[in-house]
Amino acid sequence: MGLFNAVLSLSGAIDTDVIEDERLARHTSYRIGGRASLFITCHSYHALRRAVEVLAREQVPWVIIGKGSNLLVADSGYDGAVITLGREFQRSVLAEDGVTLTVGAGAMLARLVNDALSRSLAGLEFAVGIPGTVGGAVSMNAGTRDEWIGSLVQDVVTYRPGVGLCHYAHDDVFWGYRETGIPRDEIILEVTLKLHPGEKADIRSKMERSLQRRRKTQPIGSASCGSVFRNPAGRSVGAMVEECGLKGFSVGGAEVSDLHANFIVNNGTATASDVVAVIQHVYEKVKETYGVELKPEVKFLGF
Ligand SMILES: Cc1cc2nc3c(=O)[nH]c(=O)nc-3n(C[C@H](O)[C@H](O)[C@H](O)COP(=O)(O)OP(=O)(O)OC[C@H]3O[C@@H](n4cnc5c(N)ncnc54)[C@H](O)[C@@H]3O)c2cc1C
Repeated sequence: MGLFNAVLSLSGAIDTDVIEDERLARHTSYRIGGRASLFITCHSYHALRRAVEVLAREQVPWVIIGKGSNLLVADSGYDGAVITLGREFQRSVLAEDGVTLTVGAGAMLARLVNDALSRSLAGLEFAVGIPGTVGGAVSMNAGTRDEWIGSLVQDVVTYRPGVGLCHYAHDDVFWGYRETGIPRDEIILEVTLKLHPGEKADIRSKMERSLQRRRKTQPIGSASCGSVFRNPAGRSVGAMVEECGLKGFSVGGAEVSDLHANFIVNNGTATASDVVAVIQHVYEKVKETYGVELKPEVKFLGF
């Protein structure tokens, strides 16, 4: 592959930051992961389009990430380019109707949630405490068991490599539990959400209740990727793993959390192989005990 040519073409390109051989542990909430051949931040649509075109021409594989809060990256890293969205993708605009908010996919979800609170707009309270970007949240249809971001989405703009901009209305897309029908090879650029007017005090107290619940039930101070497995219909993975007696089960520096058994935490020394070994053990035990084959929610890169 023409990695060298790709670096030559992209170094110094407008609105593009290129880092070679970047440690991905710096870009994941797990604080785990080897190096990516290239780490590219694109600050504008034109820069993004050019980067993707150069990578395609030079046959360098690439992947888009947000803040890496749902990612497990292999210890050997990723033999390709990791792309993230920079400045131009962090803006937000409120429409004249006062309830329709358009936000760039690179913006932090937490900022969006706080923005909505400060404008007395309700609907996003469930998302408080979910790390990551708006693009990552829409790609994962992030949320709780009962509420997810897709139900607020009115419109999504993506970049389809080789084609250009694509627009999807809410009903054009399948929105399921931790999944969407947005094609995986497209990059989400911008999202329009329909919120509704609310009382600031009510919004704030709903957010506080939600945060308190998180603090009580999740190891938010430890490095993790959130829930590792998706809950099967009508069941809780946390409860199943706990009933298998796996709380505290560890391999190397990776451990099933004592607080929430669907979280596998990095105690500071875990490698990706440690985490994978714990995931495999949990998967096997749950299958043996319940006959249920768990599906991962975490995304794997470089395996
Ligand atoms: C402590 C903790 C608590 C968590 N709690 C929750 C929770 O309650 N609910 C929940 O749903 N999740 C939760 N998560 C998981 C995670 O925060 C979410 O999945 C989040 O939405 C991921 O956003 P990100 O920007 O970090 O995406 P990343 O982890 O960087 O990427 C996730 C996926 O999205 C894709 N992606 C990212 N950006 C784009 C883009 N612009 N266009 C196309 N695809 C893109 C990536 O390719 C990847 O497949 C938690 C994680 C942690 C660490």
